[in-house]
Amino acid sequence: MSVWLPLLLSALAMTAIVGVRYLVASGGFALATRLRHPGLYRGLDAQMRREVLWSLASAAIYGIPAGILAWGWRAHGWTRVYTAIEAMPLWYLPVSVLVYLFAHDTWFYWTHRWMHRPRPFRLAHAVHHASRPPTAWAAMAFHPIEALTGAVIIPLLVLVIPIHVAALGLVLAIMTVMGVTNHMGWEIFPRFLWGGPFGGWLITASHHQRHHDQYGCNYGLYFRFWDRLCATDRGLGNFAAAHARAARRAGDDRRAGVGVARGRGGTDRDA
Ligand SMILES: [Zn+2]
Ligand SMILES: [Zn+2]
Repeated sequence: MSVWLPLLLSALAMTAIVGVRYLVASGGFALATRLRHPGLYRGLDAQMRREVLWSLASAAIYGIPAGILAWGWRAHGWTRVYTAIEAMPLWYLPVSVLVYLFAHDTWFYWTHRWMHRPRPFRLAHAVHHASRPPTAWAAMAFHPIEALTGAVIIPLLVLVIPIHVAALGLVLAIMTVMGVTNHMGWEIFPRFLWGGPFGGWLITASHHQRHHDQYGCNYGLYFRFWDRLCATDRGLGNFAAAHARAARRAGDDRRAGVGVARGRGGTDRDA
């Protein structure tokens, strides 16, 4: 059998998995937002539709190299992904997760800084920053050029750094959850993960919010290491402004509702 058909099927399957994973994760956290902070995304419907479309396009760009690698792994033993737990010492399991996260963070920090240069920004990264403020649906809202920079890093890492298949699953789960929650518009994690000495090295929504507010700072993905080393860390953002904007929008909506009702001859007094 030609290699093209299984290769194509693997790429399609991975695209579907990445797309469904995005819809489930972003949908789940968008629902949590609705329950916890009703009205936070009010007035952002058109933006959220755009975020979903860009994200689904990104799912294909992420799915294709991942599918090719998954096929090569099964058919030809490409990649350093291992399944027998005894193939490496046990201590290597957590170490491999940290190594992957740090390597991904390093790649992200420098490509992200590059994308804030004027030309790459106009050409590609402006799509991600068109979300003002971002929502849980913005996790993969990237121009294809930016999606490509994000899509190649894990496939490149699995070619060179050994990792157990379950540890790789954990890395991908962390990547998904942080990608969504960093854009959610509120802090879901306990204070010690974003405040205090421990939080001083980790990135959650409070940190990434400031990047979306001020652009030229807080470029990291998981850790504040590179931001702190390169003096681009400006500390945590403030969600109060985003929440106040949402409350203003809600107020405007209510007033508009009164106008419509009165225009129809209604007598809504409490709207
Ligand atoms: Zn972002
Ligand atoms: Zn940016």
